[in-house]
Amino acid sequence: MDYNATTPVDEEVLNAMLPYFGEKFGNASSKHHYGNEAAAAVGSARNKIAEVIGASAEEIVFTSGATESVNLAVKGAAEANYREGCNIVTTEIEHSSVLDTCKALSESGIEIRYAKPDRYGRVSAETIDELINDDTILVSVMTVNNEVGTIQPLPEIGTICSKKNVLFHTDATQAYGKIPMNAAELRIDLMSFSSHKIYGPKGIGALYARADNRKIKIAPQIHGGGHERGLRSGTLNVPGIVGFGKAAEVAGKMMYDDFKKQTVLRDRLIENFLRRLPHVYLNGHRSKRMPNNANICFEGVTASMLMNSIKDVAVSAGSACSSATLQDSHVLKSMGLTPDRVRSSVRFSIGRMTTGEEIETVIEKYINSVNNLRN
Ligand code: PMP
Repeated sequence: MDYNATTPVDEEVLNAMLPYFGEKFGNASSKHHYGNEAAAAVGSARNKIAEVIGASAEEIVFTSGATESVNLAVKGAAEANYREGCNIVTTEIEHSSVLDTCKALSESGIEIRYAKPDRYGRVSAETIDELINDDTILVSVMTVNNEVGTIQPLPEIGTICSKKNVLFHTDATQAYGKIPMNAAELRIDLMSFSSHKIYGPKGIGALYARADNRKIKIAPQIHGGGHERGLRSGTLNVPGIVGFGKAAEVAGKMMYDDFKKQTVLRDRLIENFLRRLPHVYLNGHRSKRMPNNANICFEGVTASMLMNSIKDVAVSAGSACSSATLQDSHVLKSMGLTPDRVRSSVRFSIGRMTTGEEIETVIEKYINSVNNLRN
C-alpha cells in the first residue's frame, strides 16, 4: 500500500538488465565493440523513455533520479537565467526536492513565490498567472501530488507560461508512465521523473529538456566529460538505463489497463472507509485524482497509532521523506487541514501488483483498528 514511495523491479526489467552487469559491461562512451554495444542499448532505452511522453531521444538527459533532475532543472535554470531581482514561481505542495532546492536558491538572493492550493490540493492556473511577473525566470509546478494524488491543471499552466515566455518545469515523478502525457502538447520545457516509481531500478532517472525551443538555457550542475549534451557529465549507468527503458516500455503498454484496474481498487478502498466508518474523510480531489492514491483522514486516531497497530500493512503518513523526519505533512497543512486532521491522515498508494484480496484485507484491518482505537 505504499507504491508511491517505491515499486519492486519488474522481472522483465531485471532480466533485461542482467547482461549489462556481465558480458555487456562496456562504457557507452568507448569507441570499440564493448562501448558500441552499451551505447546501442542506451540509445534504445532513451527512445523508449522519450516515447512515453511523446518526446524525442535527444530530449532525455539521464540523471541519478528525480531529485537530481529537479536540482538540474531548477538550479540549472536559475544559474543560466539569473538577473538582479529575478524570481521563481512554485507551489507550497511540491516534493522536498523542489522546495529545498528553491530554499537554497532563496538564500542566494532569488525570490521564491509560492502558490497556495485549494482545499483539494489543486493549484489554479489563475494563481500561477498572478504570481508571474516580468522578473519570473522559471515556473515549477508538479504534475500530480505525491501525497494526496491531486492532478494539477498542467495544460492551462503550460499555456500561460508559453504565452508569457517563462520556462516551465514540472516534477512528473508520480505521473510519468501512469497517466498519458505529451510534453510538447502540454508546453512543458523541463520535466523530472524517476525509474523506481515505475517498476524500474533505483538510482536512475531523467530530465526531459525540450530541444526545439531556443529559450531553454540550463547550466550543468555536474561537470566532467561532457556527457548528456554537456548537461550531466559522468559515465552512464548502463544497466540502470536499460532497466529504466524496459520499465518505460512496459508502462507505456500497461498504462490503460493499470489505470482501469487501480481505479476500481482505489474506489473500493475509499468507498468502504467512507461508508462503514463515521468521521472519515478523503483528502485530495475526488475525480482529478491519481488512480493509485487514497489519502484518508480517520478522525480521532493518529496515523502513527494506526501504523503501530497494523504493522503488516505498509502505508505512509505524509510522504516517505517527511515521515523520516516525523514532520506534519506540509501538503495537508497547506490545503488547510487542522493539525489533528493532518496527524490522522494515512496515504494508501497501490500499484500494478495490488490484488482485490489485499484491498479487502486492508479494509477489514483498518476498520477494526479504527473502531478499537476509538473505543
Ligand atoms: N518528486 C516526487 C513527487 C516524488 O514523489 C519523489 C520520490 N519520493 C521525488 C521527487 C524524488 O525522486 P527520487 O527518489 O528518484 O530522487
